[in-house]
Amino acid sequence: PAALHLVATPIGNLSDITIRALEVLAAADIIACEDTRTSRVLLQRYGITGKLAAYHEHNAASAGAKLIAAIADGQSVALISDAGTPLLSDPGYRLVDEAVEAGIAIVPIPGPSAALAALTASGLPTDAFFFAGFLPSKAKARADRLAEIAAIPGSLVVYESPRRLSESLATMTEALGGDRPACVGRELTKTFEEFRRGSLAHLAGHYAEAGAPKGECVVCVGPPLPVAAPEGEVLDTLLRDLSDELP
Ligand code: SAM
Repeated sequence: PAALHLVATPIGNLSDITIRALEVLAAADIIACEDTRTSRVLLQRYGITGKLAAYHEHNAASAGAKLIAAIADGQSVALISDAGTPLLSDPGYRLVDEAVEAGIAIVPIPGPSAALAALTASGLPTDAFFFAGFLPSKAKARADRLAEIAAIPGSLVVYESPRRLSESLATMTEALGGDRPACVGRELTKTFEEFRRGSLAHLAGHYAEAGAPKGECVVCVGPPLPVAAPEGEVLDTLLRDLSDELP
């Protein structure tokens, strides 16, 4: 049926695709994707020979208008990205916004996302979390952004390139505090999948020494630690000092 389907695809392991995703992709009149070569590998594996159309940052305006027109004309469009769930640090937000404006039905076909795979396996609290996507690439902007989100009462999930991982963990140690528990998930769903857990300071130290790892990674950080309440003598001194200040 004429609709915009948001179809999640694997983040590494090509078996991670739902039956419904395959059905929707097979039935789609147009499959909009970031990189047609990347997506063809996945589609070929499942014998899907749909019509591919490129939709990425640089052609979003013109390609988006064409896709909207096609759906309005009764065609079924499936949006996929190079990996995982489209729109999550991937193109598609503008298209969905425009489709909503045009009164088009949006149908999500949920599946893999590196953010949730990493967070759920991290061992960190999952009841509340903030998905920060990619942090800014410039050092100052990156530190500022971390300062902004430091006090959020939940876990943080950050996408990071292996090249910048060590530097980023060092900045996190400074901006968030080295004691916060954290986890680096790497090569998720692939042969060399790895989870490295420890305090931010520990992980920063590890990657400063080990250098840039191979493969893609997600950094998860636990919520801010409770500030220990002053006790006993400290409290007495504090109260005495305070009472001196009072009229
Ligand atoms: N839309 C994707 C999703 O739902 O996860 C994310 C796309 S974003 C452009 C790519 C980033 O996601 C990578 O830089 C990395 O931080 C993370 N990522 C994607 N696949 C991964 C994997 N297999 N292992 C670890 N991180 C991954």
